Amino acid sequence: MQGNISDKEIHFCLQEMEAQAVGLGASDTRIIPTGMISIEEDIVEMCKPPLCDGYGQSANCPPNVMSPKEARTWISDFCAALLFKIDVSPEKLFSPEGLYVFKKVYIIASELETLAVGRGFVLSKGLGAGSCKEVFCSNIPCDALMNHGKCRYPSLARPSMEALGINVFRLARDVGWEIHTILRNSNPLAIPGAMLAGLLLIGLK
Ligand code: SF4
Repeated sequence: MQGNISDKEIHFCLQEMEAQAVGLGASDTRIIPTGMISIEEDIVEMCKPPLCDGYGQSANCPPNVMSPKEARTWISDFCAALLFKIDVSPEKLFSPEGLYVFKKVYIIASELETLAVGRGFVLSKGLGAGSCKEVFCSNIPCDALMNHGKCRYPSLARPSMEALGINVFRLARDVGWEIHTILRNSNPLAIPGAMLAGLLLIGLK
């Protein structure tokens, strides 16, 4: 029992979210304890150029999000999590179509968050993959950063797992998913497979 919500209710919600994630286009899901999520300072270093251009460019990218130290405390307040992934061919991921796969992760994370909140888990939070700047505002400045403006996509945009320091590679391996290192200069034809992952954190009142 957590608060006035039973473990059975939490598990039921997670099972429903699994089905919803698959219905929305996820290739696979895993229900995981939040203690399984490793948050590491080195991961945020990978958000910096030349590995990623999003650093400092959006309100949802480091250093404009909570630090890994803060994220460790933040995540410990959630009662469980649902990891989901979308399998994608490396060739597609490296093509202009790859952005649509990133966008799909944001859409699934947002939809799951809304559903979980609607089920009474009002502090639930979905996390995406990559940078919302590249996905939604690639050729325009981040409105949320400019003059304290509002995000153009408030329901969809959110930090990625890696922006908070989550070691997605380790998490995917720990749940039994095949994952390969992919860098900007990788040859897609030499990579056996690719995937993008998102996360739903189930939060109580
Ligand atoms: S305005 Fe664009 S770049 Fe800025 S937080 Fe929103 S989606 Fe991300």
